[in-house]
Amino acid sequence: MMVKVVVLRMGHRIFRDKRVTTHVGLVARAFGADGMIISDVSDKTVEESIRKVVQNWGGDFFVESGKSWRAVVETWRHMGGVIVHLTMYGIPVDEVIPKLKGKDILVIVGGEKMPREVFEIADFNVAIGNQPHSEIAALAIFLDRIFHGSELKKEFKNSKMKIIPTEKGKKIEIKS
Ligand code: SAM
Repeated sequence: MMVKVVVLRMGHRIFRDKRVTTHVGLVARAFGADGMIISDVSDKTVEESIRKVVQNWGGDFFVESGKSWRAVVETWRHMGGVIVHLTMYGIPVDEVIPKLKGKDILVIVGGEKMPREVFEIADFNVAIGNQPHSEIAALAIFLDRIFHGSELKKEFKNSKMKIIPTEKGKKIEIKS
């Protein structure tokens, strides 16, 4: 059964976080998630740069912005999915992974300070180690644990470009 994994990026600041949020989206896509929603703030620049990557490198990853995080969470729950919040204060990831098997997952990653309510609303507050680091790193490791490494072998359909792995140098196949 194919599960759905969508990332909800909270706390995006339109000027300061463009690069970090773009990287959250690129990691989400490259590590097997289906899409990313940037909550509460509309940022077409970030949306466009992620879409450009999808056009060139394939797959059907979606990106949206400007939706209220509460509405996204409510809709997800209504559809029967679980809510995972990545936070250094949570339960160790390896204890939680078995409980998520076969479930559609909304993964919340935050910025500097998260509303208390998110900790309450989440079905699982999950820590990737209990040290402060980054939403990008936390997301990459979480997705890798969910997909057990299979995400790294994923084929991205309808790509214009594909890398041919080589020991040295760069080899790219450009499709016509
Ligand atoms: N004090 C924050 C926390 O609750 O994790 C750290 C803020 S950090 C700049 C931004 C985001 O990175 C957090 O909202 C969380 O999603 C993620 N993050 C940072 N360290 C993490 C960790 N050890 N485990 C899980 N997520 C983490």
